[in-house]
Amino acid sequence: MNRRESDVLVLGGGAIGLACALYLLRAGRSVTVLDRGQVGAATSHGNCGTITPSHALPLAAPGVLAQALRWVFNKDAPLRIAPRPDFALFEWLLQFARRCNATQCRRVTAIKAPLLIQARAELETLVRNAKLDCEFQAQGTMNVYRDARAFEHSRQMALLPAEFGLPVEVLDGAACRAREPALNDSIVGGYFHAGDAQLRPERYCAELARAVAALGGEISESTTISGLRTASGNVESVVTDRGEFSGRDIVFALGSWSPLLARQLDLRIPIQPGKGYSITYTRPARCPRIPLTLKERAVCVTAWESGYRLGSTMEFSGYDATLNRTRLDALKRGAAEYLHESEGPQMIEEWYGWRPMTYDDLPILGRTASLQNVVLATGHGMLGITMSAITGKLIAELVCDAPSSLDMAPFSPSRFDI
Ligand SMILES: Cc1cc2nc3c(=O)[nH]c(=O)nc-3n(C[C@H](O)[C@H](O)[C@H](O)COP(=O)(O)OP(=O)(O)OC[C@H]3O[C@@H](n4cnc5c(N)ncnc54)[C@H](O)[C@@H]3O)c2cc1C
Repeated sequence: MNRRESDVLVLGGGAIGLACALYLLRAGRSVTVLDRGQVGAATSHGNCGTITPSHALPLAAPGVLAQALRWVFNKDAPLRIAPRPDFALFEWLLQFARRCNATQCRRVTAIKAPLLIQARAELETLVRNAKLDCEFQAQGTMNVYRDARAFEHSRQMALLPAEFGLPVEVLDGAACRAREPALNDSIVGGYFHAGDAQLRPERYCAELARAVAALGGEISESTTISGLRTASGNVESVVTDRGEFSGRDIVFALGSWSPLLARQLDLRIPIQPGKGYSITYTRPARCPRIPLTLKERAVCVTAWESGYRLGSTMEFSGYDATLNRTRLDALKRGAAEYLHESEGPQMIEEWYGWRPMTYDDLPILGRTASLQNVVLATGHGMLGITMSAITGKLIAELVCDAPSSLDMAPFSPSRFDI
């Protein structure tokens, strides 16, 4: 059979795979990206598009698991674990639970903060240099509260990222409303993160794909990877429904699907799909200017010139591909509590996506121990858009044996014995 070859084969064309492809092309490598659908059409499509170094705190924070367990039977809770017999999920949750304490939370924040600070800077540089037309705006984000006790209680954790170089401004209710007049009078306080930004993720992915093609990268869409052939400690070829492909290096950027294909290589990648939803509208008349997180309901609100989106919720329900009406409605109900006008005049799209969640809330970046030419670029969890450009840069440095811009040890697959 005719096998197509390039220097690097990138498996998966989400924001991560596309960014890796772009930086590798810039470093002079020939690159082919394989995706079973359209590139950028999976998790990288309908997410909230916020660029948030402020999210340096891991999901595994003190009290989170206890709260999730209290919510097990609450079908519209912001964080939900759907109980079912699934050993991989059980193992993942056990590891997650071990990390729900102040010491681990601080340790992970200290690792994530420098990565996210570089991620934010690199993304803006990429958008500007490659002229990516994706509605990038750098005007910060704001987390707001309606419950005075919850606001007070949040203070210690909310200020932790500031210790690691991520400034946080504490605001009372009036100051929140002054900064964002779309908020209603129920707001009692919040935190403003001046270093955050936003973009429209589906446009960003389309623009990344355009830039990849412009540099001579090949993008093979509607190409489902079904198998991986190995020989002498390498992946020799990748089998798809459009024939076989090979590359000197193989970048695994399959997001939540990474563990499924990796099983064929005896690689146990500890990623669970963390399901979230979004609803996209045309812009309401009193449209927020700043991306918001409505904290008690964990709803994220992002507006662009081209539209308006409510998103979020986190559900561990395996690879469940249904659009859950209760959880979509919870976004609308949540937003209505905080905003003068919580929905746009016309609904454009209801969507779900699977965040590739690691239990330590750090991405998996690096070569595997058992297969020399396999490079993992996955596990970006809640921050894959934010970390896309820096991932592309770091993976290109690794593949090209260039000095790394960041200490890669905390992100190495070896921490999971992969
Ligand atoms: C509701 C929600 C809100 C979010 N908000 C934000 C946010 O505001 N900011 C932020 O930074 N992040 C956010 N995220 C997280 C972000 O969306 C993800 O981290 C990111 O999209 C992951 O990108 P990826 O490229 O790894 O995965 P994906 O975009 O899922 O790409 C993986 C690709 O692999 C392909 N693939 C899988 N299996 C195969 C196969 N067998 N053969 C061929 N191709 C295959 C898929 O088709 C897909 O295109 C949010 C996520 C959700 C769900």
